[in-house]
Amino acid sequence: MLDNYGRKIEYLRISLTDKCNLRCIYCMPEKGVEKKCHNEVMKCEEITKIVKAAANLGIKKIRYTGGEPLIFKGIEELVYNTAQTPGIRDIGITTNGILLNDLIHDLKQAGLKRLNISLDTLKEDKFKKITRYGDLNKVLRGIEKCLSLGLTPLKINTVLLKGINDDEIGDFINLTKELPIHVRFIELMPIGEGVKFYKKSAMTSDEVLERFPNLIPIKSLETSTAELYRLKDAKGKVGFISPLSCKFCRDCNKIRITSEGMIKPCLHSQEEVDIKEYIDNEVLLISKLKKAILSKPQEHKIEVNKRSETKRMMFQIGG
Ligand code: SAM
Ligand code: SF4
Repeated sequence: MLDNYGRKIEYLRISLTDKCNLRCIYCMPEKGVEKKCHNEVMKCEEITKIVKAAANLGIKKIRYTGGEPLIFKGIEELVYNTAQTPGIRDIGITTNGILLNDLIHDLKQAGLKRLNISLDTLKEDKFKKITRYGDLNKVLRGIEKCLSLGLTPLKINTVLLKGINDDEIGDFINLTKELPIHVRFIELMPIGEGVKFYKKSAMTSDEVLERFPNLIPIKSLETSTAELYRLKDAKGKVGFISPLSCKFCRDCNKIRITSEGMIKPCLHSQEEVDIKEYIDNEVLLISKLKKAILSKPQEHKIEVNKRSETKRMMFQIGG
């Protein structure tokens, strides 16, 4: 359906859990994360009902995120149910990749179409520092398995962190020479733990483009948030996602839902619509979803060097 500014809202991003098997320094605090009760978070059947209601309103694309979506019990069943929902054409997952090697075969069988893997470094010791305790080899094995199963183009999302991983930008870009992957650089956002790193480590997409003049601009999809480039004769592509330095609100076609069933019409706004208690009533559920779509603001208010209005942290929203 169209929102109040004529944008066709076709994309729903659902956070399955606040829990994570990593603790990336710019996303999640090491300690003190409040644990949610079992009945506070949505279950597989509830999410399936939301997907069905959303599809009724014209949502075509679903992305599961978190926290870490692959630790959600029943993720394979959920992907299968989603793939069976009339109207849903595209299902994606954004993951840190730690559990991919074990799960990707079944997820693909269940109907998974796209995978975004978050990876900020190709160095083992730095991976441990950024994620606080992750094992890079597990992610690399997962990536290899996805490629061997033909899940392409695989997207690798890398948050730009000046002084932390900017020395590896060239290595990430070079991965696209031989592999059918899209490496997408994402500007750090001043949300949650990201605020602590923002002043020192934020880096704009333009800074990278200046350093790599060999990147050739190519046409991006209208609904894509990434500006696309490629190296000459490369198999893959390089994308830049610049939520702050180059807002893409005008083409924003998505809404988000947190794992407790709160719709967020805009990532950076405080506004949320609670749908948890309406999940079993399809008519009311659809009307709440409509309300959320119609309350989508024209654009977010944050600017470079200002913190996001949302009080939620990134692991509670899902990106
Ligand atoms: N755990 C999954 C993962 O890491 O892919 C999904 C959830 S995570 C919150 C989704 C994405 O948000 C990741 O690519 C992560 O790097 C990104 N992210 C987290 N905090 C961020 C911040 N402050 N600014 C920009 N991106 C951020
Ligand atoms: Fe977990 Fe993803 Fe946040 Fe890292 S970015 S702490 S993997 S939710």
